[in-house]
Amino acid sequence: MAAEYTRIVLKSGKDQSLKRFHPWVFSGAIKKTYGPLNEGDLVEVFSNKDEFLGLGHYQVGSITVRIISFVKTEPDYDFWKSKIQKAWEYRKVLGFGQNEKINVFRLVHAEGDGLPGLIIDFYNGTAVMQMHSVGMYMIRGILVKALREVLGDRLKAVYNKSVKTLPGKAAIEPEDEYLCGEKAEPEVLENGLKFNIDWEAGQKTGFFIDQRENRLLVQHYAENRDVLNMFGYTGGFSIYAMQGGAKSVHSVDASAKAIDLTNENVGLNFPEDSRHEAFTADAFEYLKDIQDKYDLIILDPPAFAKHRSSMHQALQGYKRINTRAFEQIRNGGILFTFSCSQVVSRDRFREAVFSAAAISGRTVRILHQLTQPFDHPVNIYHPEGEYLKGLVLYVE
Ligand code: SAH
Repeated sequence: MAAEYTRIVLKSGKDQSLKRFHPWVFSGAIKKTYGPLNEGDLVEVFSNKDEFLGLGHYQVGSITVRIISFVKTEPDYDFWKSKIQKAWEYRKVLGFGQNEKINVFRLVHAEGDGLPGLIIDFYNGTAVMQMHSVGMYMIRGILVKALREVLGDRLKAVYNKSVKTLPGKAAIEPEDEYLCGEKAEPEVLENGLKFNIDWEAGQKTGFFIDQRENRLLVQHYAENRDVLNMFGYTGGFSIYAMQGGAKSVHSVDASAKAIDLTNENVGLNFPEDSRHEAFTADAFEYLKDIQDKYDLIILDPPAFAKHRSSMHQALQGYKRINTRAFEQIRNGGILFTFSCSQVVSRDRFREAVFSAAAISGRTVRILHQLTQPFDHPVNIYHPEGEYLKGLVLYVE
């Protein structure tokens, strides 16, 4: 017998984005629902003219349905396994899995891999899952089985870390826990450099994998420079700067725990190296007084805007920190500046940085325009998936 899914019918004219394969249904687009609705349920979405548009996970919130299929289907184990398999095949094309110098990468990037609501990062045998929808959380057993089958011996453990990211927690009472295997050696390799990752207690899934390529670029420019890595977290940029022959490297983060992680990771790669110092400090305070101290500065702040409502404030934040950097960086300095706020567009970010440059009155050239790496793919029908924006600027 065919499964019965609750039907959601959209208002007239609100079907266009789904017809263009955009995977989100916003609450304001819904005309009527037919049947019971519990968070995590699969629902079928129809246009006002009774055309089938897609099947997806229902969730209370502004994004009400996340589409997992644009054709009629009853998702069974093979359906999910095939999605995981395709995500892995794509990573293999990129060279992950064969590269001895990199054993940390993103295996599933939500909408970018046709799996909205699901992130899976791979840390040298441990897959760390982060769910953003109850629907994905409910099928965690299926996902683990699929991961084990697809990855085989490569997979030693699966850790589910979704308590902080899951909406609508009340009904499901999630826990962060190993779904298979057990806690393993937390050391991973990225471009031959060692990092100790604390996926259980760390931010996000433990490491900002999305800056891998941009860190290499810092390495490229670091030779003989005095480097400031602001918002350093695990010290990724600092370690690459040292590898690139920096004269000195200062890592700054407001979190003392992040500073401990940075010192630990620097020690793993460059024991007893006096070029590095780390400081627990607030960025806005620290940046007040760095006149002529640095000729390579990295600004990689947390998402200043998590929602559209805080966009203006976020843009002011970007403008403020970048103005401080432009005003004080040495002549001939290089500024790496980033925004990971999904709601701040590339253009808006660029305008904020341009305003900051103008306030400082410096002559500034764009060396590179950066984004997220290929293991964080952007689904062409879901431009919101391009969240990481960066500019590398040469300040005369
Ligand atoms: N660049 C890092 C990721 C940065 S995440 C990497 O490559 O891994 C953002 C970091 O900013 C977090 O570690 C957080 O502790 C820190 N942070 C947040 N607010 C801050 C502030 N006001 N001043 C300094 N650091 C801050």
